Amino acid sequence: MSAAAGRPGADFVVRRAGELVSMAPTVVAATGASGGDGDDGLGVLTGAALAARDGRVVWVGRDEELGGAVELLDGAAELDAAGACVVPGFVDAHTHAVFAGSRANEYAARLGGVSYAEILASGGGINATVGATRAATVDELSRTTLRRLDSFLAHGTTTVEVKSGYGLTTADEAKMLEAAAAGHPARRRLTLLGAHFTPPEFGGRDDEFIDLVCDEMLPALRGRADFVDVFCDEGAFSVAQSRRVLEAGKRLGYGLKIHADELARSGGSLLAAELGCASADHLVHAGPDEIAALRDAGVVAVLLPGTSFTLHQSYARAREMLEAGLQIALATDFNPGTCYCENLQQMIALACQEMRLTPAQALRAATAGGAAALGLSAEVGSLRPGASCDLIVLDAASRHELPYHFGVNLAAVVVAGGRVVARDGVPCY
Ligand SMILES: [Zn+2]
Repeated sequence: MSAAAGRPGADFVVRRAGELVSMAPTVVAATGASGGDGDDGLGVLTGAALAARDGRVVWVGRDEELGGAVELLDGAAELDAAGACVVPGFVDAHTHAVFAGSRANEYAARLGGVSYAEILASGGGINATVGATRAATVDELSRTTLRRLDSFLAHGTTTVEVKSGYGLTTADEAKMLEAAAAGHPARRRLTLLGAHFTPPEFGGRDDEFIDLVCDEMLPALRGRADFVDVFCDEGAFSVAQSRRVLEAGKRLGYGLKIHADELARSGGSLLAAELGCASADHLVHAGPDEIAALRDAGVVAVLLPGTSFTLHQSYARAREMLEAGLQIALATDFNPGTCYCENLQQMIALACQEMRLTPAQALRAATAGGAAALGLSAEVGSLRPGASCDLIVLDAASRHELPYHFGVNLAAVVVAGGRVVARDGVPCY
């Protein structure tokens, strides 16, 4: 039989997966090989294989059916999962992965009882990150960003959203976006967060800074970022100021994101629903009205339990959101001030333990949920024919080990675009 007779050709296959979590239950149902009870709607195949060509999944099914279903092309690579669990590559939909400098000393000082206001007054905090980032060259920023992306990748994250927001001038935000786009196997979605906070040289004149963002920065950087984002909260930008930024972004063709209702119930979620943002992020203080509005508008709720963990905040009401029918994503919020962690597995553990998600809900949020928050559902977050071949062979036989065996890296082999890019925590692309 040849490919012309109907079998797709494959240049990469994964064999002998003890379980394969497809996040595509309808695809799995069509194979007649569903994982049955306990599948949790994740589309789990047991005794499974997967085939890909040119970086895209062409087939998933029972391992013993691979030979009859797929034609292996000359030189095809085979990855033996040896009974382990295979899941889609993680999709981290909220990071601030480009910045210069370290704030480890500040974290130690906070733990020692120094307040953030005192740290800011002594020139530390977010202003220290802005100073270091403005002083860095694009090459310096690219190098540190690539090292961080290697760490994301080695922990199983194959798609990373990266925000700017520590430059706060048009030139420095442009420099951050350029560094964020540096060549690397992790797929990127870039977000312009010029309206992160008002930089010190504006002396608190927030409206004048918003003028600069809307009139100069957004038009100048059009085409270099997929989304525009704004920090809408008590002590940050108001709903009116945030509306100006998002409406300007919308007119220019950017997708919309918003940091909303993290520090107080301050109107960001309702603005996200009104303007049709792709996602509203944080949502620690979002209640039933906000949850209903986001659901009705089709906005994805991006939840960031690592930040709640380091700031001793409450956690977003993830279970209420799911019960209301609101789609959620889990992300790291990787940043130098409030969550210096590239490991989405840790967020799955926190979400299960502190937000009371089930392992299945948390895994869906870290894959398909993240993809939805980035407008990439057809590309990543699931292992269905047509999707990018981005997956993780876990050092575990069951997906349930992800929250259970916490604090270690369970990503044994990471595949992005149909090739192995990390093994045992070490990038190898
Ligand atoms: Zn953020």
